[in-house]
Amino acid sequence: SGKWVKAMEIVKEFEESCRTPISKLKQVADAMTVEMHAGLASEGGSKLKMLITYVDSLPTGDEKGLFYALDLGGTNFRVLRVLLGGKDGGILKQQFKEVSIPPNKMTGSSAALFDYIAAELAKFVAQEEDDFKSTSGRPRELGFTFSFPVMQTSIASGTLLRWTKGFSIDETVGQDVVAELTKALERQGLEMRVSALVNDTVGTLAGGKYANNDVVVAVILGTGSNAAYVERAQAIPKWHGLLPKSGEMVINMEWGNFRSSHLPLTEYDQALDAESLNPGEQIYEKVISGMYLGEIFRRVLCRMAKEAFFGDIDPPKLKEPFILGTPVMSAMHHDTSPDLKVVANNLKDILEISNTSLKMRKVIVQLCDIVATRGARLSAAGLLGILKKMGRDTIKEGEKQKTVIAMDGGLYEHYEEYRNSLENCLKELLGEEVFKTIKIEHSNDGSGIGAALLNASHSQYL
Ligand code: ADP
Ligand code: MG
Repeated sequence: SGKWVKAMEIVKEFEESCRTPISKLKQVADAMTVEMHAGLASEGGSKLKMLITYVDSLPTGDEKGLFYALDLGGTNFRVLRVLLGGKDGGILKQQFKEVSIPPNKMTGSSAALFDYIAAELAKFVAQEEDDFKSTSGRPRELGFTFSFPVMQTSIASGTLLRWTKGFSIDETVGQDVVAELTKALERQGLEMRVSALVNDTVGTLAGGKYANNDVVVAVILGTGSNAAYVERAQAIPKWHGLLPKSGEMVINMEWGNFRSSHLPLTEYDQALDAESLNPGEQIYEKVISGMYLGEIFRRVLCRMAKEAFFGDIDPPKLKEPFILGTPVMSAMHHDTSPDLKVVANNLKDILEISNTSLKMRKVIVQLCDIVATRGARLSAAGLLGILKKMGRDTIKEGEKQKTVIAMDGGLYEHYEEYRNSLENCLKELLGEEVFKTIKIEHSNDGSGIGAALLNASHSQYL
């Protein structure tokens, strides 16, 4: 019927505008490399902030004692403690607690957000068992993983450049987030000193490196997306401080804000961006990360419902922004039942749409696939850009170089199609031979552990 012709037209047009052939991905990768150079050359030289992290050495494994970390990401935050055994001891014991952030705390006041976090941390500290108890008598120290763009002024201080991922509290912007947290800890009467402020990518890099010495890049694919890597200090023209002893500096790219004319953006992406809390910003993040994939999918589905599937019966639920989370999209995408029961159930439960045919549900799965595949392939292209910058996209003669990429985030962890598509695409981009020298490792909760490790290696008491 005419409706089906229209439906097929919408799918075809969407698929076409999301295409990511290898030639295009190589252009994206090259653009990423160019922007990395520009961001390192001067402050404000690029959309990529290429932030200096003041982490010039990663944990060695000799760290010893009890360390805390607090990880504020996007959807949840985690508090954790680890007991490190020192040389050859590794992580002797660890405990964590995950707490979701109430939406009203993401857009309220600075004090309300930090008080909420500090209160949860205080509860967690109060539950510390005896075998964790530090015998050293020194105050507890905290590694603070804070996954938003921060201009650091030292390892344990930094001002918030802007919020992302659905957070929006104007008064925090320009403030030192460690000072904000410290004040909240004091209000809780919790004696704890923040010894390291780290981005989640940097935490993941540190945690990854602790587990595998060949880790040199970390990528987060969660609510948002970002990457960090180890750069040669001499290759950072905008760094005017003393050269670190190690000769290296970890760079927090803030790659979510990357944009390029080579990115395949659709009308749905434009509308999503325009209606977002941060229009014009984080464009790369808005096509590859977990906060947005489900929402892009919803927008296409909305048009499909109106113009093809249901005609005048416009399902009202479908109009609610962000009603379709990426976990739901992922569940539908992975539906292997012959009659696509998972798709049907989700449509019914979440969108109150019950009259779908199998043919329609197949189209819906196809839309998930288009959105996820584009995201995964574009993140592979970004990774290629980093590998190029590091000179690790080729094999040098006589060198047995191994490059390990530590990956973390709920999207990477749980969205199998996305993860596979990313890895296959990277292989395609690098070629079999080079791909053999690259390893992608899931660094489970590396960002929290990493912050505890960086806390340890930057402890003022060691
Ligand atoms: P954050 O990025 O907030 O620190 P996570 O790394 O845990 O937190 O990532 C959470 C995000 O991961 C969610 O916002 C969601 O987009 C994505 N995600 C979680 N579970 C799934 C899933 N089953 N399938 C696809 N994406 C998921
Ligand atoms: Mg996180």
